[in-house]
Amino acid sequence: MKKIVAITTGGTIAMKLDPCTGGLIPAVSGKDLLDAVPALKDIAEIEVVEQSNIPSGHMTPAMMLDLSRKIDELAKDDSIAGFVVTHGTDTLEETAYLLDLTLHTEKPVCVTGAMRGASDTSWDGPGNILAAVKTAACDAAVGQGVLVVLNDTIHAAGEVTKTHSVNTATFASPWWGAVGHVYFDKVVFRRKPIARQKIQPEKLVPDVYLLKCVAGMDDFLFRCLIEKKIKGLVVEAFGCGNVPPGVRAGILAVRRARIPVVLATRVYGGRVVPCYSYTGSAGEMLSSGIILAGELNGQKARLKLMLALGLTDDNEKLKEYFKP
Ligand code: ASP
Repeated sequence: MKKIVAITTGGTIAMKLDPCTGGLIPAVSGKDLLDAVPALKDIAEIEVVEQSNIPSGHMTPAMMLDLSRKIDELAKDDSIAGFVVTHGTDTLEETAYLLDLTLHTEKPVCVTGAMRGASDTSWDGPGNILAAVKTAACDAAVGQGVLVVLNDTIHAAGEVTKTHSVNTATFASPWWGAVGHVYFDKVVFRRKPIARQKIQPEKLVPDVYLLKCVAGMDDFLFRCLIEKKIKGLVVEAFGCGNVPPGVRAGILAVRRARIPVVLATRVYGGRVVPCYSYTGSAGEMLSSGIILAGELNGQKARLKLMLALGLTDDNEKLKEYFKP
């Protein structure tokens, strides 16, 4: 029987209703969380490591990188076949993506969570943990990169995003779809995440910000960020990479301050494409040295920039990391 390490970090999956406040709060230890899934004994030998018990909104990029280091350290143990990370769903896609970029191990790492707390009649935690362990223990998951497993559906870390605030089928990979599914008796993969990348700096650069474009937006926030001497900026533009005139002025000012700017899109799917040349389009701003984020959403582009800046501050070299 394979040995899977379950690293628990917190999230709704480890929360219960607090009768005093009427809301969910962290309440389930790592051991109790895994003990709630007796069926695991038929799938794998489980070792529990309680990393933290926090809402995922309290997770930071530095904590994500610590988690990555911890997994790589544990992965040196030949007796360990794979990993399951339990995590709040709010920032789950960010942790999964950072792990995918930074991990050295090719052992399966499956990140899961729950949309209902442990005190809820429809707690989806145990089913998600079971599916994640089945996936992590499956030979076909080796070398697939970090996988997000919820609702019996397997997604690639680079493609998945949270799409609904409360529905248990919240995780989706818009325009790409799942890479596999978990059944009662087996785990089925139908495609491989092929556009995976590695960025493995000693440390990441924290002062990287994300701004989202809205109609009529001006350059005020951009000027504040220049004053703050930030190290990098991601802008979620409209459509395939177009911004209002005020934002264009802001972006050009940030570039004049020699701060890298990555242009992502606020749209749910598709790449940033420099197909226009009107004022404020990605094509028109290219000569300022802006970096196009490809298909990455803003939150993932930010993490990628933080890691890449840990290796170089050369704008041309940074661009290379965003090419795939
Ligand atoms: N707010 C929770 C968290 O991310 C949501 C969840 O886990 O589903 O920690």
